[in-house]
Amino acid sequence: MGIRTWIRSWPVYRQLTGDDPLGRGTAAQSPRSAALGARTTSADRTARSVCPFCAVGCAQNVYVKDGRIVQIEGDPDSPISRGRLCPKGSASKQLVTGPQRERKVLYRAPYATEWTELDLDTAMDMVTDRVIEARRKGWQDTDAHGNRLRRTMGIAGLGGATLDNEENYLIKKLFTAMGAVQIENQARI
Ligand code: SF4
Repeated sequence: MGIRTWIRSWPVYRQLTGDDPLGRGTAAQSPRSAALGARTTSADRTARSVCPFCAVGCAQNVYVKDGRIVQIEGDPDSPISRGRLCPKGSASKQLVTGPQRERKVLYRAPYATEWTELDLDTAMDMVTDRVIEARRKGWQDTDAHGNRLRRTMGIAGLGGATLDNEENYLIKKLFTAMGAVQIENQARI
């Protein structure tokens, strides 16, 4: 690097000779910083979503590049959150891209000390068997006076706030159809 180039790259020189006399902008900016750009501007497309973490339901813009999520920001068009996300919501990208995310079903049998991997079909069959058995065991056809009940006290539904409207609607329908009466959601608790 020549002496002139070196002097021109010196922030104080740029501050004294450029249009940033207070040294708060371009004068203090390194070439590397100047070459950086926001991931939101280089994305191929933006999908609209809702933060999955809590019942506030802040809206998100999900930026996608080459088929992968590169950034998640608050959606300024949302009447609920108006572009804001709390620290948890701002970190929701790691929920889908984090290397520690579990992608397999893990099962710990009664009295076992270790988890074992299950394929999804096996796990679904096990859940189904348990639901049917608990429903049957807790079934009440009539009360002590012969009044018709036709309900089960053996199963209950507790939805999480990460569920969306459609999921909650379907879960409520499913559990009611199975005869459950205790159907709640974390957002109400
Ligand atoms: S951004 Fe924060 S407040 Fe908003 S829904 Fe997500 S977790 Fe809740």
